Amino acid sequence: FRYGEASEVVVPTPNGDVYFGEHHPIVVTAGPCSVENEAMIVETAKRVKVAGAKFLRGGAYKPRTSPYAFQGYGESALDLLAAAREATGLGIITELMDAADLPAVARVADVIQIGARNMQNFALLKKVGAQDKPVLLKRGMSATIDEWLMAAEYLLAAGNPNVILCERGIRTFDSKYARNTLDLSVIPVLRSLTHLPIMIDPSHGTGKSEYVAPMALAAIAAGTDALMIEVHPNPAKALSDGPQSLTFDKFDRLVQEMSVLGKVV
Ligand code: PEP
Ligand code: MN
Repeated sequence: FRYGEASEVVVPTPNGDVYFGEHHPIVVTAGPCSVENEAMIVETAKRVKVAGAKFLRGGAYKPRTSPYAFQGYGESALDLLAAAREATGLGIITELMDAADLPAVARVADVIQIGARNMQNFALLKKVGAQDKPVLLKRGMSATIDEWLMAAEYLLAAGNPNVILCERGIRTFDSKYARNTLDLSVIPVLRSLTHLPIMIDPSHGTGKSEYVAPMALAAIAAGTDALMIEVHPNPAKALSDGPQSLTFDKFDRLVQEMSVLGKVV
């Protein structure tokens, strides 16, 4: 496996190595909240690739608040992600919730996502830290920065140096207008505390598609290394997180706007 310089994470993908870090262009990750069927995931992969994304995101295992909500299509969704990877060469980022699914997820994922709700699942972190796929560690919705960095330390201590930190919004006293409070102050703070690359997720951070572009641009202005944006061919029909998902056209426009502020590809 190829290890990067201390301040970067290098992720091999079929389209080539992608570098995450402050001395590299901004890496855009995009795709639906959930993998719903082959046509939608392959179409989304093709569209976000043309727009400039280097990674396709998409959930196979979904951490839903309600047990009655759509839980993701599991292993069959992993096969669809593999098909999208094959069709486009994009790297795949997908969430692992249960260590029992690690072999199946690691077969398809170029980066394994640990979601906000599992940020302090230390048993899971130890297992993911002991394998060599890079890890995207989302900030827990009520985690302090120190708690988040200690969770990252679990991965590093277990032997995996390839960790990317993802801010996805935290719980504050006001959640009336935005789903979460996207804490962009983590960008300069983390820069002063750690060498690990920083990703911002304005989709979960705001919960509303209208707020995604302004916060994505703000994240670039503040110096983020990467962005994660939920994109869906038909957000109104999405099985999860439709209200915060961008259409292909809105995503295209956003990447163009991003490129004015920072080097995106
Ligand atoms: C997701 O990325 O779809 C997701 C569930 O994220 P989070 O863990 O940040 O809620
Ligand atoms: Mn989602």
